[in-house]
Amino acid sequence: MRFTELPTPCFLVDENRLVQNLAVLRDVADRTGAKILLAQKAFSMFSAYPLLREYLAGTTASGLFEARLGREEFGGETHVYSPAYAEGEFQELLQYADHIVFNSFHQWKAYGNLARAAGKSCGLRLNPECSTQPAAHAMYDPCGPTSRLGVTLENFQPELLDGIEGFHFHTLCEQNADDLVRTVEAFEERFGKYMEGMKWLNLGGGHHITRDDYDVETLVQCVNRLRKKYGVQIYLEPGEAVVLNAGWLISTVLEVMHNHAEIAILDTSAACHMPDVLEMPYRPPVWRSGEPGKKAFTYLLTGRSCLAGDVIGEYSFDNTLRPGDQVVFEDMALYTMVKTNTFNGVPLPLIAMRRADGTDEVIRMFDYADFKGRLS
Ligand SMILES: *Cc1c(COP(=O)(O)O)cnc(C)c1O
Repeated sequence: MRFTELPTPCFLVDENRLVQNLAVLRDVADRTGAKILLAQKAFSMFSAYPLLREYLAGTTASGLFEARLGREEFGGETHVYSPAYAEGEFQELLQYADHIVFNSFHQWKAYGNLARAAGKSCGLRLNPECSTQPAAHAMYDPCGPTSRLGVTLENFQPELLDGIEGFHFHTLCEQNADDLVRTVEAFEERFGKYMEGMKWLNLGGGHHITRDDYDVETLVQCVNRLRKKYGVQIYLEPGEAVVLNAGWLISTVLEVMHNHAEIAILDTSAACHMPDVLEMPYRPPVWRSGEPGKKAFTYLLTGRSCLAGDVIGEYSFDNTLRPGDQVVFEDMALYTMVKTNTFNGVPLPLIAMRRADGTDEVIRMFDYADFKGRLS
């Protein structure tokens, strides 16, 4: 059951799988002329940026530190969108960003002159008010009824567009191209008439382009149509799709016990190392496991923090789990490393890369200083 000889817990990103995803994205860029940016919110493993840079046009950031990381470690174009900029940070942000997207006309009035004087391309995030996500995903729906993300038609002030070079919308999460098409229809219905004179249109992220059943042809048609109709540069800024299924979180069983169920305590933690398991919530795939009861031995996989709810889920295996066995969580490159914390003094997983030749290389190990360094 050993997956790697590296110490655990360990995030292991697979170079071959990463390249597979990147090749799909570059193909879309080649066939549409769109520029594709890495949304660093999902994945900020900057040691991989030199590889990503061969395929992608740059990065997008949600704020100051991501923008700085993108500028310093990735290069290419650096785009920034934030729901609200902070006065004390904006000047510094201008050092890093090429595109600055504002969330409201009020923000544009407050910061637009500074951004334009610094030669930045300014845009507005719009809210096409077209919900395409299942109700259970309300937390991830920027088109929900009280969303703060983007300008609605009601708040749109066409008289203030002078100096705005592009529009941005981001409404999808793990979705296929049919939902993009519906969203584009809603966008054009509301805001299409303001596209004249614009230089670019950013279609945000949430496009699950590298998923097996993703309809790349529809995406390509949609992007090409928009490019021709409005004569603009199209941007896409996926996060998940860049690293979908390209990494694992490898853990080791520390203890097995029984309380109405067989319970395995791992050296990882849902709360600290994969908080989306509790926040989304979702059940991460586990290598060589089945649904509870499907295989011979069923276990509740749990974390080592003292949080009672630090439970990852119930899984079955062909063999019993014993202390020392590895349990491998799949699809763990996205929204994990960027979200870890040291709650309860649980150590951070090391970060490693499985190279194209199959060797596992440690990139970064963490220690007590990383826990203490964020406290005082
Ligand atoms: C989160 C986010 C993305 C990336 O979304 P994915 O679902 O990871 O593709 C892109 N743009 C904006 C504005 C975002 O907030």
